[in-house]
Amino acid sequence: MKFAFDNSYARDLDGFYVQWKGDTVPEPRILLLNAELATELQLDADALDSDDGAAILVGAQAPEGAETLAMAYAGHQFGGFSPQLGDGRAILLGELIDRRGKRRDLHLKGSGRTPFSRGGDGKAVLGPVLREFLMGEAMHALGIPTTRALAAVTTGETVYRDTAKPGAVLARIAASHLRVGTFQFFAARGEHDQVRQLADYAIARHDPDLIGNDDRYLQFLRAVIRRQADLVAGWMQVGFVHGVMNTDNMTISGETIDYGPCAFIDDYDPATVFSSIDHAGRYAFGNQPNIAQWNLARLAETLIPLLDPDQDKAIEIATREIQQFPERYAKAWTDGASAKIGISGTQPGDRDLINALYAALSGQHLDFTLFFRHLADAATGDDDALLGLFDDATEITAWLATWRHRLTHEAVSAEDRRDAMNAVNPLYIPRNHLVEAALTAAEAGDMTPIATLLDVLRAPFTENPDHKEYARPAPRDFGPYKTFCGT
Ligand code: AMP
Ligand code: MG
Repeated sequence: MKFAFDNSYARDLDGFYVQWKGDTVPEPRILLLNAELATELQLDADALDSDDGAAILVGAQAPEGAETLAMAYAGHQFGGFSPQLGDGRAILLGELIDRRGKRRDLHLKGSGRTPFSRGGDGKAVLGPVLREFLMGEAMHALGIPTTRALAAVTTGETVYRDTAKPGAVLARIAASHLRVGTFQFFAARGEHDQVRQLADYAIARHDPDLIGNDDRYLQFLRAVIRRQADLVAGWMQVGFVHGVMNTDNMTISGETIDYGPCAFIDDYDPATVFSSIDHAGRYAFGNQPNIAQWNLARLAETLIPLLDPDQDKAIEIATREIQQFPERYAKAWTDGASAKIGISGTQPGDRDLINALYAALSGQHLDFTLFFRHLADAATGDDDALLGLFDDATEITAWLATWRHRLTHEAVSAEDRRDAMNAVNPLYIPRNHLVEAALTAAEAGDMTPIATLLDVLRAPFTENPDHKEYARPAPRDFGPYKTFCGT
């Protein structure tokens, strides 16, 4: 099978990785193949969906032209620094140029032990692999930058976690796998030439307009800050909780990466934490913008020697950039929140209007996703469904009056406004109870529920008369949701 690899990481960044191969496994079998993405990557989806394709996508067989490798990186995990993490259970199979001329990594997660495995077994199991597949597709359909799954492949192995589980590999596509932690790996070793080399590589790949600029490292930092501010604002608009925003799980490209104990909120509550290990709520829903800024400060630190020969001046420059994050984030968030409530321009007082809404939603135990769909109905004068969500509707009733007054300042018909709101407020998100049911069925050998869920999530804004139940909140007996760092 032919892959038109063009492996810039292997070629340009000698010393930033270890050449490595995936394990041979007993019985590779493709469970899910993303045919649309394969076509985007100029791959033959039918040819991939075969025994040969499975052997390649599981990492057991390297196709012609592959220079497979495990990448080095470090990272702050829950605030503590680990100088060496790296691809402990993954390899980069190679880079492909997609139909639009964009370079994309094809990376295999769960392909076996590497020199970076530390105590781990190098493997992945089916449930988390399918969760990452689902979540990535859902985010992509929501218009939020993300890595995406090309395939989920079972290996025929038994992998031991809390119990025996089916082994699997996720073939993942990313704009790149450069992370904040990649920069940290070299900076922590005092290897500033390597940091410069990495920054130039990252600029060539993600910010080619900056090539040759004298202040390109500063501009690069600014570009990463902008991408991450926009990304996290996107998460906050749809209620996504990443769950492990360690610096090794934060990309330079601005794509969401490494879906582990992630989940979407049901009720609106900024303190929401799903991960069973996040006891202090470091990565709680409402804390994600702060953490993004903290992580970006760690990136800025690695770039200090590149920003100015005078260290004090360099620190000042870096600090100033990091201090821009809250404003950049607030702008992205306000733009998104304005669209959610059906206003397109900006007027003084809009931020207050939005803040008043979120204050009114707090403590009401109401479904975040449905609220905005029902608000679109309220834009056409139908308040019943909306008010029905509230335990106490006093505050929201007052807010609706102010909102309606604000809407009169824009000459848009009620129907057009409703449609515009429904185009940014999803009806279908990967609700926790649906994800759990789909993964449980798949682990028992029934792929129908996950296939249906994927179909629904791929058109999140359009009401699907066959699948009304996918828009409903979890049944009460589903209880509080906990996720585990699925490895
Ligand atoms: P993650 O929490 O998946 O983002 O991974 C954090 C670090 O742990 C990375 O360096 C991974 O490669 C490594 N890791 C996670 N699971 C395993 C495993 N089963 N075997 C080896 N390394 C692992
Ligand atoms: Mg990770």
